[in-house]
Parts: sequence; C-alpha cells; structure tokens
Amino acid sequence: MVRHYRVNIFGKPLKFYGILLVTLSVLTILYFMWKRPNKTTISRQHKENYMFNEFARTEYDSRSLAFEGEKIVHLDLKGAPPKISYYVKLFPLLATLGATGVLIEYEDMFPYTGALLNNTSALNAYSLEDIRTINKLAKQNNLIVIPLIQTFGHMEFILKLSEYKDFREVPTYPQVICPTHENTLKLITSMIEQIIAAHPESKLIHIGADEVYYLGMCDRCTDTMLKYNLSKNLLFLEHINNIIDVINRIYPHIRILMWDDQFRSINEEELKKGHVNINVEPIIWKYTKDVYEELGPTLWDGYSQVFSKVWAASAFKGATGKQ
Ligand SMILES: [Zn+2]
Repeated sequence: MVRHYRVNIFGKPLKFYGILLVTLSVLTILYFMWKRPNKTTISRQHKENYMFNEFARTEYDSRSLAFEGEKIVHLDLKGAPPKISYYVKLFPLLATLGATGVLIEYEDMFPYTGALLNNTSALNAYSLEDIRTINKLAKQNNLIVIPLIQTFGHMEFILKLSEYKDFREVPTYPQVICPTHENTLKLITSMIEQIIAAHPESKLIHIGADEVYYLGMCDRCTDTMLKYNLSKNLLFLEHINNIIDVINRIYPHIRILMWDDQFRSINEEELKKGHVNINVEPIIWKYTKDVYEELGPTLWDGYSQVFSKVWAASAFKGATGKQ
C-alpha cells in the first residue's frame, strides 16, 4: 500500500515554492540579458581598463598617482599672444595644476635681428627684456622653458613675407621651407642661435618639423634627390640631421625634441638608413578622442627600436575640429 503525504510550509504546499523558484530564476535571467552591454561597450571598457591598468602598473604609485616625468604646456603664440602681465597669473596657475614646464612656440613674436631675419618679427613682438621676464617668472614657479622653433613645415610666419618667397618649397604655399635652398640652413641656424641665446637656462629645444606637406617638389630638391638617389623620406631626414648636427655642434648640452608625425610614414629600415640621430626625442602627438585606435603598439615598438626617448602630447579641447 502506497501512502501519499502532503507537506505544507507556512501553510503553502511544497509545489507552490517550486513554481516561485522557477519564476524568480527566469526573471533573473531576463534581467541580466536586458542589462548586458553590447559588444562596442565591452570593447571600449576593456580598452580603457587595459590602458589604465597598464598605466597604473608602470607609471603611477597607488598613494599619489603622481606622474614622475615632465608635464609641459604648449603655448602657441600665433594669433593672440598673451601680454607679459598675463604670464604673472598664468604661470602660478599652471604650476598649481601640476605642470613642470612650458613649451613656447614664438613664431613671429620673437625679436629677430640680423640681415637674414630682418623684418620677420611681428610689430607687437616681445622684446628681449620681455623674454627675460618670461624666463624669470617661469623659474619663480619652478617651470622649465622649452623654446620651439619650426625648422621645416609650418614656417608660414616667415614664408608669407615677400622677402622669403624664394625659400618656399612650393611657390603658392608658404608652409614648407625648401631644404636645399642655399640659405635655408643659415636662416634656421640664425633663428636657433638667437632663440637659444635668449634662453640661457633652457636645456631642451624643440625643432617642430610636423606636417611637412610639400617634400621634394621644387627643381632644386628633385635634382638633389636624383643626384643622391634619395626618397622623399630620406630628403626629410637629411634636412633634420643637418639641423640636429648644427645644434649638437654649437650646444652639445642641449637635448632636441621634435614632433613625430613625419616619422610615422618612414619604416624602421629607412629611419636607420637615413641615419636619424637616435638622441633626437620624438613627441608622439594625436589630437583625437581615441588615441588607442590610431596609434597602435606597432608605432611605439618601432620607435623603441630607433630612439632612446619619446614623449607624448595631447590637446585640451582638441586641435582638429570639435572633440
Ligand atoms: Zn626644394
């Protein structure tokens, strides 16, 4: 004889609790399916976590999260240069925010002199006394000063002037200086000498050299490339090496920085063939939201095979459209 027992808990049959458990499980699964992020979100979170963790492991300590290297603010004086009185307020602010130095791109705000550079300074250019004040204010705020002198592309401030039209690589655009013009190196050397003389305590100089859009296009340059069997990349490196040599010869104690973008299209083999000076320190710049996507590990690995040091640069508010 088989007996059936009915089991009740708190007055409810066991079957009731079974149905309740199954219902709650189904609702839980549905909830997590609804909350599950899509693949893009997962990918971005993964990247951000990866980058942060890598950064935290290598550069930060958990106590202060303080970056040990230099933190430099780039002041581009084209267009709307600050009055000297503004630096009195600006430099303490930058120092408070954690900056360790300023990179000053003078353009035509430097008081150039001498026959080669006559008439290149803006009418509102700083005086040498002004620059001494800038140096003094920077020092008072524990900021180093790195002067930036464009030496290849972005030389509009001088090439736009009628006296310097002959120096243009392309007659219709005042962007790039011709590296094979007989007076180009003299002109640039004179600029470097004057700017370094005005910054006697600076141990770093920046030679620009970004966005050299016109290379090997004039007759002089094409003849030189044919004669010496040079590619455009090697012509670029030849000019950069000449400038580095000038600085190293006159100022062996000064370290040289430059923007990196022209190097991105030159492979490692050509960089070595072009005998680029390994002591020049490229600044890897990118002004887009997703640096991870656009400057992958190949770039960093390649540079690590060639250069002894690299820097990185971003932009506040973006420099290429709205970001
Ligand atoms: Zn040329």
